Amino acid sequence: MSARSGRHFLQIPGPTNVPDRVLRAIAQPTIDHRGPDFAELTLDLLVRTKPVFGTSGPVIIYPSSGTGAWEAALVNTLSPGDRVLAFETGHFASLWRDMAERLGLIVEFVPGDWRRGAEPAALAERLAADTAHGIAAVMVVHNETSTGVASRIPEIRAAIDEADHPALLLVDTISSLGSIDYRHDDWGVDVTVGCSQKGLMLPPGLSFNAISEKALAAAATARLPKSYWDWTAILDTNEHGFYPYTPATNLLYGLREALLLLEEEGLPNVFARHNRHAAATRAAVRGWGLEVLCVNEREYSSSLTAVLLGEQHDADKVRRIILDRFDMSLGTGLGKLAGRVFRIGHLGDFNDLMLAGTLSGVQMGLELAGVDIDPAGTQAALEVLRTA
Ligand SMILES: *Cc1c(COP(=O)(O)O)cnc(C)c1O
Repeated sequence: MSARSGRHFLQIPGPTNVPDRVLRAIAQPTIDHRGPDFAELTLDLLVRTKPVFGTSGPVIIYPSSGTGAWEAALVNTLSPGDRVLAFETGHFASLWRDMAERLGLIVEFVPGDWRRGAEPAALAERLAADTAHGIAAVMVVHNETSTGVASRIPEIRAAIDEADHPALLLVDTISSLGSIDYRHDDWGVDVTVGCSQKGLMLPPGLSFNAISEKALAAAATARLPKSYWDWTAILDTNEHGFYPYTPATNLLYGLREALLLLEEEGLPNVFARHNRHAAATRAAVRGWGLEVLCVNEREYSSSLTAVLLGEQHDADKVRRIILDRFDMSLGTGLGKLAGRVFRIGHLGDFNDLMLAGTLSGVQMGLELAGVDIDPAGTQAALEVLRTA
């Protein structure tokens, strides 16, 4: 690999660019995780993480990737043979479904075309038919990172309430947390799954479960086997600022700094910034004459945009050219979208000129790859940035 000047553009939808302040916070000496300084750090963090989830309840922090927090949400609340309902919104929803099946749950997977979010009407229909209340949980990916579609969680909640159904609501916010408005308490979510390397602007290695009282009550009788993920020991030791095993100390320093950054900007401003960058990106895509994968304007993701290319083009070739020529990484097409889409991440530590640079690189890459586009695309995005 030859040396390259300037910064690499890491425009995949996670891991995202880590702010210098967070990197510096991580680069401190590791401390005794059973000592008083550590307890102070943890007790502070356990309070500071709550607003990001929109909760006043407990938030568990795991030293793991997001997949671990998926598993934790299931094994702490459910029992072998329990029926759960999930929606085929894309690659990540499919992976979470696979995990649930491997753990011994019976999953009803509502089919989807990977261009829309979880459909509240389809949920209402299934819950109405479940008069015996056999469905123990509803699993939804809030922001489907493989497609750039954000499901409407309040409407999902309303469907459960209208059916007067006792199912738990488990939501994956891995690529929306800290980027797109989300409210664990107000939206009646029972377990919210999050992780560090997307909107929270940290390196990979931390994951989260925000837990409702109803989920805690379910945990008391849930019988799926668990050990590392067991909430009980973690909640007990957290009381005094500790963990039952060695936490990711230096990432926790980074988490504190990242939460400070979000507090300083203000969450409503953070969400508005992401909405604006997403709108500008869609203006570019349409201006180029290309298609945004998400088909429902009420479900556009503000953290990433998936761009659909015609059958004759290989989206990975476009990505390769952009990486080689302009030192920028874009997200690949996942699962059945491989080769058909590329994904532009516009989340986390990001600003107008970073987006302008990103879209310029995408435009040049498309032209170099021989995709017939209208060069007015990037200009259309700049108009949005200048005026909005
Ligand atoms: C990234 C992602 C995951 C997987 O997280 P890992 O940290 O790779 O385990 C799960 N769900 C969504 C929506 C994601 O974006």
